[in-house]
Amino acid sequence: MAALLVPLLAVSAIGFLCSALVHIVALTGVVPPGGNAVFALHVGVFVIWFPVVFLAIRISQGQRGFMSWGPLLSGCPAWFRGFLLVLFAYAFLNFFSAFNGEAGHKQQSDALAPATLRGSSGHWMLFYAAGFGVLLTAYRRPWMLRGATCPRGHRGLRDAKFCPTCGAALPDTPSRTRPLV
Ligand SMILES: [Zn+2]
Repeated sequence: MAALLVPLLAVSAIGFLCSALVHIVALTGVVPPGGNAVFALHVGVFVIWFPVVFLAIRISQGQRGFMSWGPLLSGCPAWFRGFLLVLFAYAFLNFFSAFNGEAGHKQQSDALAPATLRGSSGHWMLFYAAGFGVLLTAYRRPWMLRGATCPRGHRGLRDAKFCPTCGAALPDTPSRTRPLV
């Protein structure tokens, strides 16, 4: 699994950096060179998110309630989680200001216009960074991909103290300890 995670981490890091570059260039009102090659970043998001969704389901299994970002990002440093939160807020503000502005209306028909690229690249940055976070958690906390099992082999809830099938006490898993910093 780790052999697959490393290249995926690299692709999401490179995707993020390229998206950030496109974003900065588009903010200055310029279309980056390379024409439609920029949309490879759009395709890259899906390449990364296919395994990310698979890992997110594995990490979230055996937990009560809905999938939440807490466990999915528990392998990331605290500053990275803060950075994602800021990026999340920024991507939405950016998207609306890029497409609601006068320039946005004029250019909306053109996919390669700076305003359109500005709107899309903000989301590309967010998706690459969030994907990187989930991949990093899977890489640094591989035990989170396995569900907790009781001494008799029943599958239990990872955050439960007792097996829901036979009532045996579940061993303490490292996932119950505080997040890695
Ligand atoms: Zn059991």
